[in-house]
Amino acid sequence: MAGLGGVGHLRVLNPEPGLYAYYDGRVPGYRFIEAPNWVDEGAISLGTASYALVAGDEALVYDSHVSVAHAGAIRAHLEGLGVRRFTVTYSHWHLDHVAGTAAFAGAPVIANVLTLRHLAAHRKAVEDATYHGLPAINPLILPTETFEGHMAFEFGGERIELIAANIHSDDAALLWLPGRGVLLAGDTVEDTVTYVGAPEDFAIHLRDLEKIARLGARRIYPNHGAPERIASGGYGGDLLAATARYVSWLQSLAARPEQGARDLADVVAQDLEAGTLIYWREYEAVHRQNVEQTLAHFAGRA
Ligand SMILES: [Zn+2]
Repeated sequence: MAGLGGVGHLRVLNPEPGLYAYYDGRVPGYRFIEAPNWVDEGAISLGTASYALVAGDEALVYDSHVSVAHAGAIRAHLEGLGVRRFTVTYSHWHLDHVAGTAAFAGAPVIANVLTLRHLAAHRKAVEDATYHGLPAINPLILPTETFEGHMAFEFGGERIELIAANIHSDDAALLWLPGRGVLLAGDTVEDTVTYVGAPEDFAIHLRDLEKIARLGARRIYPNHGAPERIASGGYGGDLLAATARYVSWLQSLAARPEQGARDLADVVAQDLEAGTLIYWREYEAVHRQNVEQTLAHFAGRA
């Protein structure tokens, strides 16, 4: 069955009033593009969502999904709800989060100041597909407005906060709705497991996970998670704790590198049993690269 607007397996989830998740992937046997490419390997195989918060004729779009086709279908869905004005925010600079923005041409784009720095530095390579290969993102739309640390504004009469963090990438921007206790977490947490890009920053990741946990979020929505959990009201604060436990386990490989042979299902068994995490086997490859990066980091420092 074709997805929303005829795009892949894109489906609309509506976990709470005014909040939409646009989810594609986690469909066995389905690829967006046949040849090897960053859309399928980094996002569709794991499952990926972007979000939109709607108030009247305005939408606050959190990430622009993996292609202009996806974002065009999202825009059409929002227009069908009566939306006429769009503001885009980026959760961080990775390609599966910023690829579709051309479908919102002319809209303001808000991001962490480091997101702008990373995108500007890689712009040419992203646009000519020499950075992560095909498909190119051309034009790559850069943020038009940036913040450092923290930014607050009102949207549809509701307070919105953007909070900078260094977890998964150093330029994360989480979107926090304090009035509802709802947190859009980008890639700072994932289900089944976080994707580690910088083992040298583990201590910072743990510090920032703790900082985010102190918000006391009641419902957390990651970009890469289980669609059934996102559809039914998201994750609890224990997703942050589970992520911190996994990062701590990676740290422990410094003293016990042989433990790195364990597979993901074994390492996070307790959180799977508790229902905090839901097992998706494509994450074994993410876990494997996390372990390899971590061991290489510790070996280089020894
Ligand atoms: Zn991602």
